Amino acid sequence: MLRSGQQYLDSLRDGRVLYIGDERVDDIPGHPAFDKVAATYARLYDLKAAPENAERLSYEEDGGRHSMYWMRPRSQADLERRTSAHRFITEFSYGLLGRSPDATASNITGMAMKPEVLAEAEGGFPDHLMALWRRLRDEDLFLTYAIVPPPAARNPEFYQTQGIPSPTLKVTSEDADGVTLNGMKFLATSAAVANEVIVGNILPLAPDQKAESITCVIPFNLPGMTLWSRKPIARDSGPEFEAPLSWRFDESDCVLLFEDVHVPWDKVIVHNNTALSRDIFIKTASHVLSNHQSIVRLHSKLRFVAGVASLVTKATNANAIPAVRETLARIASFEATFGALVDGQIYSHERFSDDFVLYARRYVYAGLLWSAEHHSELLDTVRELMGGGVFQFPASIDILRDTELRRQFETYWATKDYASAERMKLFQLAWDLVGSPHSSRLQSYEKFFIGPVFSVLNYNFINAPWDELEGLAVDLMADYDVPDFGPDIQQD
Ligand SMILES: Cc1cc2nc3c(=O)[nH]c(=O)nc-3n(C[C@H](O)[C@H](O)[C@H](O)COP(=O)(O)OP(=O)(O)OC[C@H]3O[C@@H](n4cnc5c(N)ncnc54)[C@H](O)[C@@H]3O)c2cc1C
Repeated sequence: MLRSGQQYLDSLRDGRVLYIGDERVDDIPGHPAFDKVAATYARLYDLKAAPENAERLSYEEDGGRHSMYWMRPRSQADLERRTSAHRFITEFSYGLLGRSPDATASNITGMAMKPEVLAEAEGGFPDHLMALWRRLRDEDLFLTYAIVPPPAARNPEFYQTQGIPSPTLKVTSEDADGVTLNGMKFLATSAAVANEVIVGNILPLAPDQKAESITCVIPFNLPGMTLWSRKPIARDSGPEFEAPLSWRFDESDCVLLFEDVHVPWDKVIVHNNTALSRDIFIKTASHVLSNHQSIVRLHSKLRFVAGVASLVTKATNANAIPAVRETLARIASFEATFGALVDGQIYSHERFSDDFVLYARRYVYAGLLWSAEHHSELLDTVRELMGGGVFQFPASIDILRDTELRRQFETYWATKDYASAERMKLFQLAWDLVGSPHSSRLQSYEKFFIGPVFSVLNYNFINAPWDELEGLAVDLMADYDVPDFGPDIQQD
């Protein structure tokens, strides 16, 4: 089934307990912190359900029509179809929605491409996984994930020496019906506007952390579960004209707190197996399939950044200066590199199993590393191109309400090519991309959404074909000899 925007909005009124500070939010789609991003997603659900987009955004399986991102790819053509659907969604958000519905859906779809990983280990529940994936697909649900412990909780010695329990989420008891969870999980992007969440572990656990290895897929309204929102940006960012990106794309981030939350067994995928709780992301197709979406998104974002940068230089009349052109050329080259990375992931795809194929994982991890290390630098370059221009504009476009202020604004702020308000519109948009609170949150997102940089470096290291690469040098050296200078020099 493909949900309408209205069905999606209605699904968010599920009784979940969400706090902004001490304010309890009852009506998510009606609250000023979340109404605008919920409306953005509702538009996306409507676009997805529209008949003219059916071929691009959905596919048929088991007698039903489903969103494309639930599809398990069996051929290069399937990979292309998935990428095209991601492309539609990421262009819709200019690459600014990190955890759109196609992101984490790809995680569980990737797991469903290799449920054997769960079957082959103690504490894995492959049948639950497949039933969960089918239900999420059939009901067209919006899934996110919270798969790291809260900061500081990774230091168990601290809690032992202080004699207090570690706050990280763990199973505290189990019965015939399921497990009981207590603790915190960090940090679920889109939690305020999604339907369900994968709770699990992407970072390795020590063997004695079995109780923390719990991995489950649950709705947000289980009794005892609360969502603690970070400070919302959209609510305080002013009118759309002044912060159009904050307005549309403040996707929300929440810490999840569990106090005696009972999770039925059929929602549990892993229990009491520390290695397996990470392996289900890494040894299945989960991590690569979902992070291909991240690379498509980053390409959409780079397209947008390049466009904004170019417009800004036109508005400042700096676009013809050779040094500025070179800066734009560098941005364009990054954009083109990401375009090639997306295509390369398809055309150099790997056979994942007898049934399925997968995007080229090394190209996925290369793109993730580049963006974690260079995204902020790129935005800083655009900020430099803007000069101090944004601070030249009045505090608010409200000045247009006053006839005299309007006259002055339209007289003194206009340039040869731009009316005053149009120039202000462009600079407000650019600032929302590179300098606003929304931009700042996104800079942290791009650094950390896949985990810390050292983990991204690790994925690049472990997937590199070192034997093959070293072999190049070894073979070349085999082609020539150490010079023969005659008999060894005699030692006295
Ligand atoms: C905006 C945003 C959205 C997020 N969304 C999600 C989400 O949807 N789902 C989810 O599960 N998580 C999400 N996260 C959490 C993210 O996974 C973590 O922030 C990330 O794993 C880093 O963990 P940490 O924040 O606890 O940093 P810390 O572990 O406290 O690390 C702080 C710094 O120290 C460095 N550091 C720590 N240990 C080492 C080490 N051993 N070697 C080298 N350097 C080290 C880190 O690289 C980092 O720079 C999000 C984070 C942000 C900022």
